[in-house]
Amino acid sequence: MNRTLKPIHFVLFAALYLGLQSICIALFPTHAMGVSYPFMILAPWLALAVCWRVGRAGAVRTRLLWTLLCAALAIWGVGILFAAWEDLLQHSALIGADFSDFLFFVYGMPVLLAISSPTEGERDSLFVWLDAISVLMTAFLAYVAIFSVLPFAHRAGHSLSESRLLVTYNVESFALAGAATLRLLAYTNDGEERRFYQILCGYLWIYGLLTALYNHVTVATNEQTGQYDLLTILPFVFLTLGAVYLFGRPARGEERVQSFRRKPLTLFIDNASPIFFTVALLALGAALVRQHFYIGMSGIVVALVVYGIRATLLQSRYMQAQQELQDARDKMEAMSLTDSLTEIANRRSFDHSLEVEWRRAVRRRSPLSLLMIDVDFFKKLNDRYGHPYGDDCLIQIAQALQSALPRTADLLARYGGEEFAVILSATDAHGADIVARRMREVIQALNLKNESPIGEFVTISIGVVTYMFPTEGTSATFLRAADEALYLAKRNGRDRIEYASSDVPAQIG
Ligand code: GH3
Ligand code: MG
Ligand code: MG
Repeated sequence: MNRTLKPIHFVLFAALYLGLQSICIALFPTHAMGVSYPFMILAPWLALAVCWRVGRAGAVRTRLLWTLLCAALAIWGVGILFAAWEDLLQHSALIGADFSDFLFFVYGMPVLLAISSPTEGERDSLFVWLDAISVLMTAFLAYVAIFSVLPFAHRAGHSLSESRLLVTYNVESFALAGAATLRLLAYTNDGEERRFYQILCGYLWIYGLLTALYNHVTVATNEQTGQYDLLTILPFVFLTLGAVYLFGRPARGEERVQSFRRKPLTLFIDNASPIFFTVALLALGAALVRQHFYIGMSGIVVALVVYGIRATLLQSRYMQAQQELQDARDKMEAMSLTDSLTEIANRRSFDHSLEVEWRRAVRRRSPLSLLMIDVDFFKKLNDRYGHPYGDDCLIQIAQALQSALPRTADLLARYGGEEFAVILSATDAHGADIVARRMREVIQALNLKNESPIGEFVTISIGVVTYMFPTEGTSATFLRAADEALYLAKRNGRDRIEYASSDVPAQIG
């Protein structure tokens, strides 16, 4: 919007425009039609120009809505041109009359499209095109059904009653106003889209009321033109001023996205509109098949094809979304079970696996072993060489411990801090001892610097527990036994392996 133009300028211009038209009609009563038509022709195009500017300046999501409204205004603008041509040049018997009627009827279709466009998410242009095809076909068939005549054909021998024409227009404009009101109610928060529907709603009600009044007056007085011509301009004045007033100001902060929880009415409108168009097209097609076979059949075919394409697209998108959701879920699950530093299993994964392995061992009466590993004097290492070095050591230690576990059924986990745990399923005390020794060896082989009271390099202490037939106790007592063995290893001087005490009958020392 041009910064130098303020809403007040538009109000003044509108007042001037209406005043000028009124004076012209009063001054030239004999040529009232001739002087009134230019005002009526120009008005929708001026409104269109303003709406177009406003739409371009707005958010991408509302731009489509403005474009649809502009399309409606353009159709109306062409319609009034045809009407003028027919009225002024006395071509009433030719196609002009039918075609302007058709255009005034079709004018409502882009508006209908704007009203029924989905509220949320990315507006897919393909779906908009599919809707547009359905709506245009519906308009065409409805026109043929209501007027019993083709819009491009001569109206030979068939004269349409004026009252039927007016009823059709009134039903159309009030149905649109009602639908726009419903649409407006579906919005939960203030934003550009809601403001667009506020303007559209106001405009459609004013348009419906004033055109009904105008048509009633023209039929009642049987005069083609007069001061009441101003009634046809007023809806466009309202539309222009509404657009300038609500959208001319700089945007108030960021556009808020609609809340994810949608009102049931919004959901209904979003989901019902494609079905509504399909059903309307099918019904109209079926109704017309007898009288106009090809038109009726083409309506049915378009309905089915458009619905088919939409259903296929939606189905494939749904499947794609399902797959993406599944992948994300798998990734999340893997993340929730992995330690972020060392990339081995975390405590959560360990707790779960220990429970599973414990139950399996009880069920199968098979041995189960557990190693608790703690890095010796790790606090000193951190204090002396810094935390980054400590982290790097933990990563290397985890990798080395993992390399000492050839069986995939065995699980190495970071139990917490500088403590690790290993679950060895179906492994007896002898097997556990071999693994524990190998683990000490691989850590020794790393030669990670850590000057401590017991040496120069990083060492580990290991507590081992094995239940040959784990029937007594629980996984918790099993874990405690391993922890006690580790504590023993620490107490006995570190850098060693200790075995759980022999008070558990199935354990081998
Ligand atoms: P001990 O031989 O008795 O096991 O002595 P310790 O110093 O190894 O044991 P202590 O429990 O006193 O200290 C463990 C240290 O491990 C303390 C903490 O700063 C360090 N630590 C725990 N988690 C991490 C980690 O993710 N990164 C690093 N760099 N250090 C950690
Ligand atoms: Mg510790
Ligand atoms: Mg330690």
